[in-house]
Amino acid sequence: MSSIYVDHAATTPMVEAAMKAMVNQLSELGNPSSLHSHGRATRKTLEDARETIAKEVGCLPTEVIFTASGTEANNIALKGLYWAGRAVGKNVVVISAIEHHAILDPAHWLSTHEGAEVIEIPVTQKGVIDLDFLTKLVSERSTEIAVISVMHANNETGVVQPVAEVVNIAGEIPVHTDAVQSFKKIELSFSDLGVTALTLSAHKIGGPLGIGALILRRTLEIPSLLHGGGQEREIRSGTLNAPSIVAFAAATKSEVYRRDEIVHLRDRFISGVKNVLPDAIVNGIEANRLPGIVNVTFPRTQSDTLLLLMDNAGVSCSTGSACSAGVHEASHVLLAMGHTTITAQSSLRFSFGAASTQSDCDFILSVLPDVIARGRAANSV
Ligand code: PLP
Repeated sequence: MSSIYVDHAATTPMVEAAMKAMVNQLSELGNPSSLHSHGRATRKTLEDARETIAKEVGCLPTEVIFTASGTEANNIALKGLYWAGRAVGKNVVVISAIEHHAILDPAHWLSTHEGAEVIEIPVTQKGVIDLDFLTKLVSERSTEIAVISVMHANNETGVVQPVAEVVNIAGEIPVHTDAVQSFKKIELSFSDLGVTALTLSAHKIGGPLGIGALILRRTLEIPSLLHGGGQEREIRSGTLNAPSIVAFAAATKSEVYRRDEIVHLRDRFISGVKNVLPDAIVNGIEANRLPGIVNVTFPRTQSDTLLLLMDNAGVSCSTGSACSAGVHEASHVLLAMGHTTITAQSSLRFSFGAASTQSDCDFILSVLPDVIARGRAANSV
């Protein structure tokens, strides 16, 4: 049976250069914080990797803080910027309504445990944040806002957000952006965007799992989550994971992702879906989107059933939304875009990666009508 993987937004295979870099580094000895020659050799390799990543994301090497994941970088940024703001009397945290749970949940934790008032920026039906809402909010409450966090592109729909405009509206207020899904997929420059902080994760770009980075303006000091050896500007203590970091840098340099071809593949896939299932709704289709993510609502179906039927037909895709105790919640992203709980639970996300081909799409399109028919039959009993 075919096995087609279209869940690259969840994680994508490591590129060869990253694997090689990781394996080589695994056999090297030396804690980068040690002062002897082994330690200094590891430090040199690691600082070269830091420079590579900095160059690719348009920041200074000193602005790269390595973390163990995108989730950790988001937590450090949101909590740290909130605590820094609270110290000077600001307690409002502004996030978009469509953030990944790695921002949503820390924001709600800050509200429950740390006295934050969390305000969510709504999105339009196209899945783009409402800039008028933000403008009004900032004009009325700018002195109370500790941090604004708006993702660079959404992981469920691929819709790109107007982060540069957010920075303009924010003025002096620190802005963080979660760029986990957009790094290496579309143009991204920390300095051009003008944000205060930005999150990256290696495993979405062909690097290893369990390594990420927070890009944080050089001049800024924020309280940390982890205390210990004082590594990474004392913001993220812990011995640096040199093998994963060099692999992250190698993936960052790799040019395996064929943007134009993936856009073409995506658009042909969307036409194919509309052709075989005319009542399918492609979410966020009118907005500026990432090349590789397609989110489709299939009316009168149930996402979990579709996922299993797809898997059985040889296709690994995703419902896109969070899973709690094995049951998929209705996607907060689709709900924010105006879906009902029922239609938000009738959707699948197909995400293409560097190795995706036209024949993968053709195969999915060949099994889709039967999967949807069976999903509808199961949903009607
Ligand atoms: N932010 C976004 C937008 C994501 O899509 C993900 C992962 O799916 C994360 C953050 C979390 O990154 P990590 O898996 O490195 O913790």
